[in-house]
Amino acid sequence: MRHIVLLVCLVVLTTFGPRANAAPLKPGALNKAPRLIIMLVIDQLRGDALTRHYSRLLPPGTLKRPGGLRYLMSHGAHFPQAEHDTLHGMTGPGHATIATGAWPYRHGIVLNGWRSRRTGQYRYCVADKATTAIGSRGKGRNVSPKTLLGTTIGDAIKGGAPGQKVVSIAIKDRAAVLMGGYRADLALWLEPQSHRWISSSYYLPKGHLPSWVERLNKSAETHHPQAGKWRPLGASDGRSSTAPDGGLGQGSATVNSVWGPWGDSLTARAALGAINHMKLGQTRGTDLLAVSLSAHDIVGHRHGHNAREMEEMLVSADRTIAAILRAVAKRVPGGMRDVVVVLTGDHGAPPAQSYLKAHRLPHGEIARQDMARLLEGAVTKKYGPSPLGRWLTGYSKFEYFISRSALAKSKVRLSDIERVVAQTLRKHPSIEWVFTRSQALDGRWPPGLFGVQAARGWHPRRSGDVIAIPRAFVIQKRDEVSHFTGYSHDRTVPLLFVGRHVRPGVYPKVVKTVDIAPTLAFLVGVVPPSVSEGRVLGEMLSDGSH
Ligand SMILES: [Zn+2]
Repeated sequence: MRHIVLLVCLVVLTTFGPRANAAPLKPGALNKAPRLIIMLVIDQLRGDALTRHYSRLLPPGTLKRPGGLRYLMSHGAHFPQAEHDTLHGMTGPGHATIATGAWPYRHGIVLNGWRSRRTGQYRYCVADKATTAIGSRGKGRNVSPKTLLGTTIGDAIKGGAPGQKVVSIAIKDRAAVLMGGYRADLALWLEPQSHRWISSSYYLPKGHLPSWVERLNKSAETHHPQAGKWRPLGASDGRSSTAPDGGLGQGSATVNSVWGPWGDSLTARAALGAINHMKLGQTRGTDLLAVSLSAHDIVGHRHGHNAREMEEMLVSADRTIAAILRAVAKRVPGGMRDVVVVLTGDHGAPPAQSYLKAHRLPHGEIARQDMARLLEGAVTKKYGPSPLGRWLTGYSKFEYFISRSALAKSKVRLSDIERVVAQTLRKHPSIEWVFTRSQALDGRWPPGLFGVQAARGWHPRRSGDVIAIPRAFVIQKRDEVSHFTGYSHDRTVPLLFVGRHVRPGVYPKVVKTVDIAPTLAFLVGVVPPSVSEGRVLGEMLSDGSH
C-alpha cells in the first residue's frame, strides 16, 4: 500500500510538479532556428484588454491564413499576467525592457526623459545630437540607441549569419529605436505633421530613405483622411461605457488622424513594405521584425480603457496584426511554422479619472508645476534662496533633480536638500512613499514590492534625487489617464508566444517582461542580450507543438 501511495505521489509530482516545467526538448530540437521573429507591442495594452473584447476579434484562422490576436491566443502560449514589475510603467522603459530582457536599472532607460542636474535641461531617452533626422519635412528629432546601456534581442540574433536583418517600426520614435537596438538595419517612425515615415542618420548614414519608404510616404502625404473622422470597424460588444457609433473621438476634431486607426494602417503598410522589400524571413539566418502600435496609447490617454474608442483601437490592432501575419505566412518559406511571434504591451494604465469619480473609486491628480513650486519654496524657507535662483533643476514625472551647480556655490549639502524635499512630499495627501538618492546608494529601499520596483527602476546617473510614488489611481493634472507607476494596472500586460516548441494554452503563472528576450534567444539558439536578467519561459516549451 505504501508503495502505491509513493508511486501516486511520484506520478503527480512528475506530471504537475516543478520538474514538468523544466522538461527538456528532444536532442537537436533547436538545430533549425526560426526564419523570422515578429515582436509585436501594443502601446498601453493592459492585461485584460484581449479577453475583454474577445468577441470583436477576427476568427483565429489557420497557419496558411492566420487571423490576428485570436490566432495568437489559440495557437500560442497566453500569459494574461505578465509584469513590467518596476518603478515606472512607461513607453521608453517598457520597450527597452522587452528588447533587452533587463530592468531599467540595467538598460538605463529609467523614464521617457530625465533632467540634467547641472543645467536642468530635459534629456529625451533616445536623444542623440550627433545624428540627423532622415526624411523629415520639418525639424525631426535627432535620435539613436546610444543611451541604451545594453544590447537588444535584435543585436543578439544578428551575429548568427551574414545578411540577417533587424527592422523596427512604430509611430513613436523611442519605441522604434529601443526595440531595434544598436544593429537595426532600419528603424522607422512617423512624423505626425507630414504623415511621413522617417529615420535617423544612425541607421541610414547615406542620408536618404530606402525608395520603397519614399513611395509609401508619397501615398500617405496625398491620401490622409480628414482629422477627427473616425468610423467604427463594427458593432460594439456592449462592454464599453462611452461613445455611440457616431461619436467616436469626439472632442478631438483637431487631433491628427495618425493617432487613431489610420495610424495602425500606416504602420501595417510600413511593416508589409519591410517584409516584401527587405525579404524578411526569406534569406539565411533569423531576421527580426519589431512593430509597436503607438496610436493605441494616445487614444487611451484621451478616452480611457472603458471607452468605445479603445474597443475600436483593439479591433484596429487586431486587423493590423492579421495583415502582418498573413503577409508573413505567404512570403516566408515554411510559413508560420518557421516563425516565432511574441506580442505584449509596454505598460498598462489606470481607469480614466471620470470613470473613477463616477464609481466612487479612489482617485486624484497632482499638478506637477504646483508641486515643484511647493518643494522649491520649502527648501528656500529652510536654507534661503538658491545662489542660482533655483535649488531644483526640474522634474520628470515625480522624480526631482537637485541643482549641483547651486550646491557648488553654497554650503548646503545634497542630503540636506534631499531631506527637506522628501519631508515635504511625505506630507502630501496624494503621495504614498518617498525615497532619496542617498537612501538608494545606501541600499535603503522602500518596503516590500515598492522597494523591489524602486531598485529595478533607479539608475544613479539618470534617476532623480528624490522620488515620490503617488497613491494608486492618482495621475498628473489635466490628463484623463496617465501611467507611470508600478501598480497592477500600470504593470500588468498580456504576453503571447507562438511558434515551434511553444505549447498552446492559457498559463496561470505571473511572468515578467524581462523573460521575453531570453526566451527568444533560447528559441533562436543565441546568447541573451548583454544585460538580460530574465529566464527562459520553459513551462510553455515542449516537443511536437506547431
Ligand atoms: Zn502613454
